[in-house]
Amino acid sequence: MNEREIRQILNHTGVLPSRQLGQNFLTDEATAAGIVSHLDLSPEDTVVEVGPGTGALTRHVVGRVKKLILVEFDSRLAAALREKFAQVPEVEVVHQDAVEFDVRRLFAHRPIKFLGNLPYASGGAIMKNFLSVPHPFSRAVIMLQKEVIDRLSAQPGHADYGLLSLRVQSGWHVKTVMEVPPEVFYPIPQVDSSVALLEPREDLPPFDRRLFDELLRRGFGQRRKQLHKLLPEGKDWEQLTALLGVAKTVRAEELDLAQWLTITHFYDEHPLKEIPQKGSEIFDLVDDQDQVIGQATRAEIHANDWKHRAVHVFVFNKRRDLLLQLRSRMKDKHPGVWDSSAAGHLDAGEGYQSAAVRELEEELGIAKDQVIEVGKLPPSEATGWEFITLYAVQYQGALRYPCSEVEAVQWFPLEVVDQWIKNRPQDFASGFIECWKCFRRESAGTAD
Ligand code: SAM
Repeated sequence: MNEREIRQILNHTGVLPSRQLGQNFLTDEATAAGIVSHLDLSPEDTVVEVGPGTGALTRHVVGRVKKLILVEFDSRLAAALREKFAQVPEVEVVHQDAVEFDVRRLFAHRPIKFLGNLPYASGGAIMKNFLSVPHPFSRAVIMLQKEVIDRLSAQPGHADYGLLSLRVQSGWHVKTVMEVPPEVFYPIPQVDSSVALLEPREDLPPFDRRLFDELLRRGFGQRRKQLHKLLPEGKDWEQLTALLGVAKTVRAEELDLAQWLTITHFYDEHPLKEIPQKGSEIFDLVDDQDQVIGQATRAEIHANDWKHRAVHVFVFNKRRDLLLQLRSRMKDKHPGVWDSSAAGHLDAGEGYQSAAVRELEEELGIAKDQVIEVGKLPPSEATGWEFITLYAVQYQGALRYPCSEVEAVQWFPLEVVDQWIKNRPQDFASGFIECWKCFRRESAGTAD
């Protein structure tokens, strides 16, 4: 797409490029093709492109993927894209501010990749909305002003290193893959641009992301101040700096990501912050009628497929979204997949209802005296030979979860969960899928 074609589209749509909307359109085919090549597209991919504009990048994606979702804020450009792709059923044009786009519905479309020659002014907010953990993307390619891309990938000791670098690098491997000069845009911007490739990182130990972010905000709040004057009081600073191997006068910008994770772990007050060794826990063994017939260790029960007891709890907010938890990658069973809001085994001698109340507190920090029974599930391979009682509660307040067990939590609309399970059962713990079927049967009033 060259400058003449772009001018024609702009004339036709009546768009006068707006600086506020970052409307600098790419005029160089080779650059556009080069950017898209970093998405490493496959026919089964879904791609979300934010700010497609006149379609310079879009045309290199159409026809190569299963679905393409275009999110464009300018109503005239969105209308023109809709017209252009009217005969291409896999293209969906969404006329919306990408900062407001509901990313949760994208989980049902995995594998999914993110593409955007982002508007400079709202690029940060768009990235935060789409690319913060938990997100559904397996890869993201973004173009922004060079100065911002440099900050994303900067390391300690570099002037660009700071809060943004650590936030993004705690979720993604970041690599600058292209530098793009102003001359390949219409109109020509005043700054250079760069393209970054972001790939989700799975090489970090579990850490409490909210605490990490809070400590970063404090630490970088006054960049030139010594860190110990900025972090919460009441911790042994000498012990922490010895652990980090740094001087007591250290400043936030001198510490790398691994050191920030050490700080986060040091400040984490959650009683379950260490990865638990669970093999020796004792559970009741039960017969086919769910009657207790003895006890055994967790390791023995799982090794022998013996029947035992568990609870799952579905937590709903006032809008009736369901809270799902992303299980830690360190879990021995079903690592790194989505699961019920809370779930766990009954301890030996424990009742179902009290186990559900305990799990809610331990896994989510929700204090409830009672939970409502939704239904009972028989043992099967899918439940891991567990008799499960499923409970539900409504809850709105703060959530507090142990990072050793739970990587992230997210509220999902029920229709998203339906679609997601249908498309991607492998994204879920099998016990959760059985519980979901039970919940759907019970809420439809057709329990069997
Ligand atoms: N992808 C096109 C290209 O490479 O030529 C256009 C890129 S241009 C830098 C940014 C695009 O983002 C424009 O089409 C603009 O209208 C759109 N845009 C600006 N703010 C937006 C927002 N908040 N949400 C969605 N799109 C936005």
